[in-house]
Amino acid sequence: MAEFDVIIIGAGPGGYVSAIRCAQLGLKTAVVEGRETLGGTCLNVGCIPSKALLHASHALHDAETNFEKMGLMGAKPKVDWAKMLAYKDEVIGQNTKGIEFLFKKNKITWLKGWGSIPEPGKVKVGDEVHAAKNIVIATGSEPLHLPGVTVDEKVIVTSTGALELPKIPKSMVVIGAGVIGLELGSVYARLGSEVTVVEYLDTITPGMDGEVAKTFQRLLKRQGLDFVLGAAVQSAEVRKGKATVSYKLRKDDSAATLEADCVLVATGRGPYTDGLGLAEVGVEMEKRGQIKTDSHWQTNIKGIYAIGDAITGPMLAHKAEDEGMAVAEVIAGKHGHVNYDVIPGVIYTTPEVATVGRTEESLKEEGRAYKVGKFAFMGNGRAKAVFQGDGFVKILADKETDRVLGAHIIGPSAGELIHEICVGMEFGASAEDIALTCHAHPTFSEAVREAALACGDGPIHS
Ligand code: FAD
Repeated sequence: MAEFDVIIIGAGPGGYVSAIRCAQLGLKTAVVEGRETLGGTCLNVGCIPSKALLHASHALHDAETNFEKMGLMGAKPKVDWAKMLAYKDEVIGQNTKGIEFLFKKNKITWLKGWGSIPEPGKVKVGDEVHAAKNIVIATGSEPLHLPGVTVDEKVIVTSTGALELPKIPKSMVVIGAGVIGLELGSVYARLGSEVTVVEYLDTITPGMDGEVAKTFQRLLKRQGLDFVLGAAVQSAEVRKGKATVSYKLRKDDSAATLEADCVLVATGRGPYTDGLGLAEVGVEMEKRGQIKTDSHWQTNIKGIYAIGDAITGPMLAHKAEDEGMAVAEVIAGKHGHVNYDVIPGVIYTTPEVATVGRTEESLKEEGRAYKVGKFAFMGNGRAKAVFQGDGFVKILADKETDRVLGAHIIGPSAGELIHEICVGMEFGASAEDIALTCHAHPTFSEAVREAALACGDGPIHS
């Protein structure tokens, strides 16, 4: 029986990052992973493949809409779907092999197979039982299913099936206007599918700053996506290779149907803890199925920790990674910390959407006095030069102290720009601190500075 300081179950961004940090801190570390490749949902069927397809479809869209305007003439590119999928798979392979390399470099043992916890301090993989002073559960999440809708991963698919459809569908219904549905919906819209997004709530991207959500929906509509909001899907059925989605409008209970070649069910994800034997060991769970942990990511059982999508909080790769690093520090007897108030969220459509910290809605609800600094990308020279003048930066700051409380960006490279705000918030920056920082010209980042200026005496270029 092999003995380890730490055994981590699951090699997604939470698990593999935790393993690397544990090894760096001198702990003898093993990772159990049942998939053929490392990297979890994120690298295999999540963040990375979806970004590859977003990139490829955006390049096509750019060629179709902007090349001629810049005097770049030539035949319109044709889509070779098999090649595009091969490119996506190549990107996945490079990334998952990269994690294998990092495991070898850091002398981390990969225990191949599905793991369970027969008792505290033990992890079973296949027929073998390994001893571990500490166990970290990082088993991630799986797509949630919708009553009345049976996924066959051919016509009615989850995000996993949507990343490897046999052909580009002529029409697609996306159920759920969250991040995953909108990202993949916009991939297929750019590739020529007629995409209709059906959402239960009256707004897309629930929980997001309302003004950003409205602008985002308007821009996606302009790109050809249709929306049916406030609609409760009743069922989806497949007949002769075509799906019929039935829904009821919540406002008047009227029923309607949509036909499509493909239905993407993107109604969220739930924690995945099947087969771990948690109930037998007595690990406490949250009401919604996540593993319950304390502020040091330890469960109610000493020496068993949990991180990432399997616990509460935003289901994001970087949140899982941060918890992975922090729990390693805790296990090594150091101080591990995650600031849950400063976790950015990004949607990688065009334009990108990025958000961090408080929304206006939540500040109003709290009754906190705040000010808003806004700047439209139309006033940013660089954005206009690259046909990306849509959208804006919005910074929210405390009315009295000027301290930055949150930021919401829709526009070019929003997912990169947001980190200036994140660093600022970590250092307790005021909007004036950002406004007084010299920003290179011409960059998209100038729009962030202008929004910060708008919290004070006003922006220059609007
Ligand atoms: P996971 O990545 O889910 O990894 C868990 C691993 O544990 C899996 O490999 C699984 O096989 C393994 N496992 C489970 N049980 C066992 C067991 N008993 N024994 C052995 N192995 C086991 N997040 C972002 O931040 N940015 C994005 O752009 C983004 N895009 C996404 C796009 C899509 C289509 C999807 C589906 C998700 C996306 N996410 C994104 C979310 C992100 O993928 C997850 O938040 C992240 O992967 C969670 O990491 P994790 O380590 O907790 O779990």
